[in-house]
Amino acid sequence: MIIAVDGPAAAGKGTIARALATHFGYHFLDTGALYRMVGLAVIRNARDPADTRAAIAAATSLDPSGFADRDLRTEAVGAAASIVAVVPEVRSALLSLQRDFARKQPGAVLDGRDIGTVVCPDADVKLYVTASPEVRASRRQKELGAASYADVLAEIKARDLRDSQRVTAPLLPAKDAVILDTSELDIAAAVEAAIAIADRRRR
Ligand code: C5P
Repeated sequence: MIIAVDGPAAAGKGTIARALATHFGYHFLDTGALYRMVGLAVIRNARDPADTRAAIAAATSLDPSGFADRDLRTEAVGAAASIVAVVPEVRSALLSLQRDFARKQPGAVLDGRDIGTVVCPDADVKLYVTASPEVRASRRQKELGAASYADVLAEIKARDLRDSQRVTAPLLPAKDAVILDTSELDIAAAVEAAIAIADRRRR
């Protein structure tokens, strides 16, 4: 059983995907963390995330034990992740790791941008979690604390644009995805809606 949860930054897909994994007793993979690890490795090597060669080198020598690194969660690393994610060789270097994870028993929930379209096109359940840029910016600003709302909104819009306009595996809902707009939902309501959708699809 594979559940794909895709959508733009700060729409709530991580929270929803984790809750689905807990509810159904499945494994969970935050695929954005893989791209963040690549972005962070490039920054730590004092290279520019737009340096394609540096990005490919970081992706092909990725150390998956870096999942818990606290620096992964910063906006700067999120932006670096979306820059390295444009490079097709970076994406292909991370593909088999994601597909292997998706085969875990009794099931797996993967969240990202291209899970339902590219990584697991045959996923049993596909959710596309979204919310307006303004709602997402205000949620992210609360999470980050100090940052200004205008800066966070501008960063989210820039990331949306980069993620949806890239040539390889752009951010877009799979044709058979169920769209879940969380703009007007709190966490509990969004999770409840996602579980109901997954339950319907599983049957
Ligand atoms: O989901 P998160 O914000 O952690 O993702 C960081 C960046 O990694 C995204 O903006 C996107 O560019 C990239 N990403 C991707 N494909 C995925 C997951 C993340 O391109 N499956």
